[in-house]
Amino acid sequence: MATAKTKTASAKKPSKKSGNTSHEFQAEVAKLLKLMVHSVYSEREVFLRELISNAADACDKLRYEAIAKPELLKGDPDLKITIALDEKTNILTVADNGIGMSEDELVSNLGTIARSGTQAFMEKATQAEADVNLIGQFGIGFYSAFMVAENVEVLSRKAGTDKATAWQSDGAGSFTVKPHTGKDGPQRGTLIRLKLRDDADEFLKPERIEGIIRTYSDHITHPILLKGDEEVDRQINSANALWSRPKSDISQDQYKEFFGHVSGVYSDPALTLHYKAEGRNEYTVLLFVPGEQPFDLYDPERRGRQKLYVRRVFITDDAEILPAYLRFVRGVIDSQDMPLNISREMLQDNPTVHAITKAVTNRVLSELKKLSENDTETFANIWQAFGAVIKEGLYEDMARRDQLFEICRFRTTRSDDETVTLKDYVANMAENQTAIYYLTGDDAAKAAASPQLEGFKARNLEVLLLTDPVDSFWVRTALGFDGKPFKSVTQGSADLDDIAIADKDEDKPEQDAAATGTLVALIKQSLGDKVADVRTSSRLTDSPVCLVANDQNLDRSIEKLLSKQAGTGITVSAPVLEINPHHQLISALADMAGSSGANSDMEDAAQLLLDQAHILDGEPVADPAAFAARLTRIMSKVFV
Ligand code: ADP
Repeated sequence: MATAKTKTASAKKPSKKSGNTSHEFQAEVAKLLKLMVHSVYSEREVFLRELISNAADACDKLRYEAIAKPELLKGDPDLKITIALDEKTNILTVADNGIGMSEDELVSNLGTIARSGTQAFMEKATQAEADVNLIGQFGIGFYSAFMVAENVEVLSRKAGTDKATAWQSDGAGSFTVKPHTGKDGPQRGTLIRLKLRDDADEFLKPERIEGIIRTYSDHITHPILLKGDEEVDRQINSANALWSRPKSDISQDQYKEFFGHVSGVYSDPALTLHYKAEGRNEYTVLLFVPGEQPFDLYDPERRGRQKLYVRRVFITDDAEILPAYLRFVRGVIDSQDMPLNISREMLQDNPTVHAITKAVTNRVLSELKKLSENDTETFANIWQAFGAVIKEGLYEDMARRDQLFEICRFRTTRSDDETVTLKDYVANMAENQTAIYYLTGDDAAKAAASPQLEGFKARNLEVLLLTDPVDSFWVRTALGFDGKPFKSVTQGSADLDDIAIADKDEDKPEQDAAATGTLVALIKQSLGDKVADVRTSSRLTDSPVCLVANDQNLDRSIEKLLSKQAGTGITVSAPVLEINPHHQLISALADMAGSSGANSDMEDAAQLLLDQAHILDGEPVADPAAFAARLTRIMSKVFV
């Protein structure tokens, strides 16, 4: 994989024996190697893909460094990867004349591993069907050599230095490094020698190696040469940049292979976007939307989203050409007109980069929209995997909010397993409905059962069920869609009186307004500051009570979410208790309030109504002992 990574720990303290420095592998690496050594993976051949990929990255890095320091290429300007097979000694060699590694880099790069990657891999790899294809994704490519080799030797000489170092290990807990003086070392770059296990001798056959390279590494932009009996090494791959070829010359398999190279995921991409932009800025784009979530989608350290090239010279994969909410899009952008000697730091302020960012972002969004209209099934998969990430754009990229709304999909109280667009929602609004109603929660099924929805269901009003954490953030700042504001069903007054109830023939007890008014006053008095207010509501049809937030406060689910996040200092404010005047219990209590006023039964009833409303919202009751005592008192009246 192409990413330069932050090593989080260095290998354990070295011990020195006769010029050899012995190091223990970092614990995670040791564990990982054990897996590799004992692996029963059927696709062991991917080790070669990983070593070639590392070699190609090393060549890319040197080519980039050489822009500023051309002397680094002196005497050996043609970057390449050379593979040699020796059936007599069981040795397979992969060599590159790229950037190379110093002794310190060998110890850190090939002794430790980026933490987030390993942990995620180890978690998956210990499950029964560990998939060797995960290896690339987790950035542990080099270690896969131990799937086929009983001993691995790495000879490396960093470009611009005259010292070579030898790294050597059998994969069992430790490795050694020592200066390498032998003539067999590389003049520049890295040479990896695998002493193959007896059961891996298939990898000594030239036909087999050729087949693997053609399958996995054909697109590598540096020549991959196979040493044979002939004088001249034979080039196996086509070594031209795939993205620079006309679309009609590229097969689906070649796209798929290239997608694997840039994403580490070796399956079909869900969307391939390949085009050339002409005009003020000229550049080529080859981007993919994966069909599944990568393990590190939410890892803040995640990098390598899109690779930036300038006239086919790799510049960086850290440039964030696309905004963060499109971080799942992988691939290459190759600029024709940027200066080659642009430093990575200068990219941020570069007007060409800005123009490319803007145009490519718009293009990706418009392609997603097209897909959502023409291939709903594929789009549904993309939405399932990345919808929550795309929605981050609704508050991070206000300028494109309307564009984003066009591709957003939502579950609603009516949609079952299907999703709807906001356009669909608005088209289906009821007479006199003025807002787009939504309910936030962790779980769609639970949210759909909320009592706050009853009045909406009775009126056949559709309510968006927003269950991703990100929803609480965008919905607060979004002004609305198509002129209709978003309105939480758990906040403020419900204003449903103007909308007709669909099913009117239910036998609702008559409400006595004066008695209900007395009841509201009595409940308010007994609950004191546990509630912000008590009021009757058209929100409810079946349940006696529910809780909502005041219009001035944040929605309750958002307050709860924020108060859970330590350090935000947000406390959940007292809710409004809404009562259903048509409910039998409420009308009986109203009668009682009208005739006998405050008494201890009324006090118990008020407290119990509040407690059950909290329970329905998935919250604990404030005083469980008092709750139990009250419930017992009331039940005793019925049963004793
Ligand atoms: P990844 O390539 O995904 O970072 P690897 O375990 O394959 O993970 O390699 C670890 C690191 O070792 C690489 O990031 C790179 O810095 C270094 N490396 C591996 N192979 C080479 C090579 N042939 N030349 C130079 N550096 C290399």
